[in-house]
Amino acid sequence: MDLGIKGKRALVCASSKGLGRGCAEALAAAGVDLVLNARGAEALEATAAALRQHYGVSVTAIAADITTEAGRAQVLAAAGSVDILVTNAGGPPPGLWSDWGRDDFIRALDGNMLTPIALMTALLPGMIAQGWGRVVNITSQSVKAPIPALGLSNAARTGLTGYVAGTARQVAPQGVTINNLLPGIHDTDRAISLDGGVVNAEGITMDEARRRRMATIPARRYGTAAEFGAMCAFLCSQHAGFIVGQNILLDGGATNATI
Ligand code: NAP
Repeated sequence: MDLGIKGKRALVCASSKGLGRGCAEALAAAGVDLVLNARGAEALEATAAALRQHYGVSVTAIAADITTEAGRAQVLAAAGSVDILVTNAGGPPPGLWSDWGRDDFIRALDGNMLTPIALMTALLPGMIAQGWGRVVNITSQSVKAPIPALGLSNAARTGLTGYVAGTARQVAPQGVTINNLLPGIHDTDRAISLDGGVVNAEGITMDEARRRRMATIPARRYGTAAEFGAMCAFLCSQHAGFIVGQNILLDGGATNATI
């Protein structure tokens, strides 16, 4: 399917690895020029070089922490005006409700709620002015069904979801769509880290932790960054202009809900 976005420009945050990279790769395959970001320069440059070589699109790589004001300023200055924004950052650590104080919540809110909001605040005006834009926020399955050990993530991402629900309807008249993609478990470093927590807590092997988790997923496997990226690229396409303010779950059926 021709996504109809060849030659557009996208900022994809936190995209040297994992789901962000999957989104960047699917956009590159659709002919979109990219601004990529991550903190570690080495992996970021390697990803940028691979996408340039494979897809022939222009790729600018900015090594910066997207959750800091200075990092965002650096990324936004390099990006300039873009047609497509994919927001993403690392997720907060797991724990128990009694572990977390104000500073932990502020960090989580900064990373997973206020950062995507700041990026939208900066880039929506340009999209509105040109009458076309796409925003996709990478959030989490935990927005639909809480993951008890991820209370910091549950809280911050639900806040972002509420913001998007209203804002998406304010910018839709100007041809701009905002939607959220909610990953269930996907085979990335984040999954290794989450499964590592289970290994430590339960005294089991990594293989056993994965086997147990897969048994809870109707698809009986973890998702891949490539299939996640394909959905992201579709939401950014010309075909998705009528999809507004939605929360799309990619979880292999793990969330047991009718709607
Ligand atoms: P990942 O494989 O660990 O990749 C994270 C990417 O983000 C890396 O490129 C990393 O590079 C970059 N990054 C992290 N923090 C950053 C920051 N502050 N500024 C700029 N770049 C940053 O993680 P993932 O699995 O793709 O997860 C992406 C998001 O989806 C996370 O918020 C995660 O919590 C959420 N999620 C993932 C899953 C899953 O199963 N994978 C499920 C639900 C939700 P650097 O470290 O070099 O910065």
